[in-house]
Amino acid sequence: KEEEKSQLFQALELAAKMYHHLLTQTQYGHSAREYLLRRRGLSKETILTFQLGIAPPDGQFLLSFLKKRGFSEQLLERAGLVGSKDLSNQRKRYFDRFRGRIILPIHDTQGRVIGFGGRSLQAGQAAKYINSPETILFQKSNYLYNFHRARASIRKQQQAVLFEGYLDVISAWQAGVENAIAVLGTSLTESHVKIIQRNTKQVILCFDSDRAGTQATLRAIDLFHDGACTVKVLQMPSGMDPDDFIRAQGIDAFKEQVSIGAISTTAFRLEQLKREYQLTDDDQRMGFISQAVKLIAQLPRPVERDHYLQKLAKEYHLSLDALRQELRHAKFKQ
Ligand code: ATP
Ligand code: MN
Ligand code: MN
Ligand code: MN
Repeated sequence: KEEEKSQLFQALELAAKMYHHLLTQTQYGHSAREYLLRRRGLSKETILTFQLGIAPPDGQFLLSFLKKRGFSEQLLERAGLVGSKDLSNQRKRYFDRFRGRIILPIHDTQGRVIGFGGRSLQAGQAAKYINSPETILFQKSNYLYNFHRARASIRKQQQAVLFEGYLDVISAWQAGVENAIAVLGTSLTESHVKIIQRNTKQVILCFDSDRAGTQATLRAIDLFHDGACTVKVLQMPSGMDPDDFIRAQGIDAFKEQVSIGAISTTAFRLEQLKREYQLTDDDQRMGFISQAVKLIAQLPRPVERDHYLQKLAKEYHLSLDALRQELRHAKFKQ
């Protein structure tokens, strides 16, 4: 078993090196290099640090390279590097899983390559991203992108910034936000939450400002529910993701957002709730107030409840007394 794992690690490491070599040292890598440097605003140093690469469109490229190095097709399939198709008479045809894509290596805590993300270069072509499948080494729910690089900074600052996308992490890192991590193209799991809670007192959720990102934020808030670390939410302007924001507004604006722009989970949930109502209509307005008070009633600390009640009273020109009565009623029904 250990022998098998060590071979898988070796194959993955060689693949990462080869893809990186193609991107950085060859004529073939030119257009992908231009894309990353010009369109995505990455520096050469960033491309090196994240060991970015390019996979050629040819489906036999990596396969034949690694076979020459002594790896069997079966092993390469177990590494998640190649896929296979059943042919007649029990034979299989093997082919590279990543073709014509920018390659983003994914590492374990010790910095060993365990899988890859691959981003397509043509807009509108197939899936924008594909990832390695689950393998003996790669379980998406147990690993976070960039965690091995970010861990020291996360522990030192006692803060992590959790993103949705690989490129958000890379952009943030390039902007000087070194405590940046992301999930691996799946949703956040209990196991991710445990890893984060073991390493920091605070996590900032910085997902895309779209429907999916908002839903993912609400879900993440629930998953961090036990309070082992505080959760804050940093929202991007509507329709943007953190990487878009950094490119549009610059590094300093983003760093400022990270240090002072994050809001409490309660403020975020109240804001999302508000969007469900047409507040110019009196009945809808009262419906919102009643749901907002219910949300506030769930808060464990009296001072917190008071804080948000006062804000609500001010914003909607209501007496604090009336809201307190409403809250007692809501708590009684809990
Ligand atoms: P880019 O900036 O390169 O367009 P992004 O990271 O902003 O990419 P999103 O569409 O916001 O892309 O997706 C966020 C993350 O979700 C991606 O980084 C990737 O990990 C994952 N993802 C997106 N599309 C897919 C897909 N088709 N299959 C698997 N994972 C995906
Ligand atoms: Mn998105
Ligand atoms: Mn995005
Ligand atoms: Mn993006």
